[in-house]
Amino acid sequence: MRQDPNDRYDPTMSTSGGHDDRLAWAAGEISRWFPTSARDLPWRRVRTPWRALVSEFMLQQTQVSRVAERFEPFLEAFPSPLAMVEAGEDAVLAKWSGMGYYRRARMLHAAAAAIVEQHGGVVPEDAATLETLPGVGRYTAGAIASIACGQSSPIVDGNVDRVFARLTADGSTPGAKGREARRWEEAEVYVAAADCPEVANEGLMELGALVCQPKAPQCLICPLARRCCALEAGKVGEIPPPKPRPKKKLVEMQVGVAWSGKKLLLARRPDSGLFAKTMFPPEAEAFPSSAEGRPLAEVRHQTTHRDVRVQVFVFPDGSKVSGAEWKHPDDPELALTSLASKIIALARQNHEDGSEEAASS
Ligand code: SF4
Repeated sequence: MRQDPNDRYDPTMSTSGGHDDRLAWAAGEISRWFPTSARDLPWRRVRTPWRALVSEFMLQQTQVSRVAERFEPFLEAFPSPLAMVEAGEDAVLAKWSGMGYYRRARMLHAAAAAIVEQHGGVVPEDAATLETLPGVGRYTAGAIASIACGQSSPIVDGNVDRVFARLTADGSTPGAKGREARRWEEAEVYVAAADCPEVANEGLMELGALVCQPKAPQCLICPLARRCCALEAGKVGEIPPPKPRPKKKLVEMQVGVAWSGKKLLLARRPDSGLFAKTMFPPEAEAFPSSAEGRPLAEVRHQTTHRDVRVQVFVFPDGSKVSGAEWKHPDDPELALTSLASKIIALARQNHEDGSEEAASS
C-alpha cells in the first residue's frame, strides 16, 4: 500500500531527546541568538501594545521593508486608538494608501473603536481579550500579548510553522488534518519554556524570516542545527511540502475616466467587496447610455486570491455621473489602491498627450 505523505510525521524520529524537550531547548537557543541577530525595525525601538497592534496589521500582507518606511508617519497620524477613532475611517484609509489590502485598514479602525468603547482606550494585554477585537486572530493576539506585554502566549504564523516543521521533521502538507493543532501545541510548549516570552517568540519569527527561509535555509549558521530533525534526516528541502494553490478568481471590470481640467472623476467603491470604500474611477455603466466611451487600455492586477482585469474607457464628459466627484488625483487625502493609481497614471498620460496634441495643432 502506498504511504500517505501526511503519515510521515514522527516527532521522535531523530536526534537525541523527546519532542517537548527539543522545543524547550529551542526556546533557550533562540533566546540567546535573537538579541545579537535582530534587525533594527521601527516597531522594535519603542514597545507599546498599540504600536505592536498597528505593526501586526500592517505586516499581515505587506513586505517588512515597505512597512518600515510607513510605520512612524502612520503612528504620528494616529498615536493612540482614540486618535484613530477621532480621525475617522477615511483618514485611516488615506494614510494606508499604497499598502494594499485595505480591509486591514478598515479592521484596524474598527479594532481602535472597540478598544475605545469597551476598554477605555487602553489596548488589552491578554491574548483572549485581544482576540475579541475586530481583525485580531489567534496569531496577532498572541504576538501582541507576548512581544509587547511579556505574556506567555503562543504564536503560529508561516515562519513559525516552517521552523517547527523542520525542527521536528513534520513532513505533512500545510493544511493537512491535525497539523495546525499540533503546531499550536508545540508553540505552547515552546513559549512556556522561555524565560522571556517576548524574546523567544519574536526570535522564533526572526529565525524563520532570516535563517530558516523557505527556499534557502541557512543551516550552517542556525542556532537549532545541532538538534534539527529535518537537517539530520537530510529532508530540509522537502519540509514543508508545497501547499496546493487554489486557482485565482477572475474579476472583470469596466471603468470610465473623464477629466475636468486637472481634476479627474472618481467615485467611492461600495462598502463591501473588492477595494471597498476606496476612491476609484467610476464603473463605465455609470456614465449615461448616450455617452460614447473610447477604449483606452486593459489593466491587469493580481491580488492573493484574484486576477483582476480592468477595461478602461475615456469619456469626454463626466458631468452626469451620479455619486462621482471631481478630484485632483494628487490629493494625498485620497485613499487610492495601487490599481487605481495605475489606471490614473495611464489616464493622465493619455490626457496630457491629448492636451499637447491639441495645443500644437
Ligand atoms: S537547521 Fe536548517 S532546517 Fe533546521 S531549523 Fe535551522 S535553518 Fe531550519
